[in-house]
Amino acid sequence: MDERRGGGCTSILSLLLVLGLVISMVVYLSPGLDLGNVRRTVYSERSAGVAGSGGEGYTFMQVSDGGRPVTWGCAARIEVEVNPQGAPEGYADLVATAVQRVNEASGFTFVVTGETDDREFQGRQRGPVLIGWADEEEVSELAGPTAGLGGASYVVGPGGDARSVGGMVVLDTDMPGGWLGGLDEETVLVHELVHVLGLGHSDDADALMAAENSGQDEFTDADLAGLAALEEAACG
Ligand SMILES: [Zn+2]
Repeated sequence: MDERRGGGCTSILSLLLVLGLVISMVVYLSPGLDLGNVRRTVYSERSAGVAGSGGEGYTFMQVSDGGRPVTWGCAARIEVEVNPQGAPEGYADLVATAVQRVNEASGFTFVVTGETDDREFQGRQRGPVLIGWADEEEVSELAGPTAGLGGASYVVGPGGDARSVGGMVVLDTDMPGGWLGGLDEETVLVHELVHVLGLGHSDDADALMAAENSGQDEFTDADLAGLAALEEAACG
């Protein structure tokens, strides 16, 4: 989809900015925890991927009418701005490392362009992807064991094809850490950035893109297959 296709303003005006954002989340568990509360949290997600979309071990966050996953343009350079309010010490390295890992595993390139005081996590439209930290008072979906949210906003062109044009990741300032053991904020950020690219949750419990992470901190073959499918959809 090229916004300028057809020339002039007409085709631009015919673009429809759909919803604000497709949001998903990840929660972190230790094996011994009571899962009841967590499951309720997970099931209350507004969107965690379209069931049956994707392939073995991966789903897409959203699928266009034509059946293609909603993602960014081919080899897109995706600008990211970081709001440091509430961020942990060393957040710049945290963001840089997570971004590098996702860039290396995907066909897209997140580029951190600077910092911002923007806190409009929801209802985002076209523009840089916002990475920030918040508590459940500010972002209610962060209540309970949810460690982060991530998603993209997208436009749908006249032909029904869709393309991501913005997005956000918000991490919980009260991220469960010590008592859960080994919770890794970098893993959460990587997971959420992959939601921004367009992958939903995996039904493979071992995947990094599983809704409930029980310790996986590396991409699995299923995660990588999903990322490759997004690249193919963007460039194919
Ligand atoms: Zn998730």
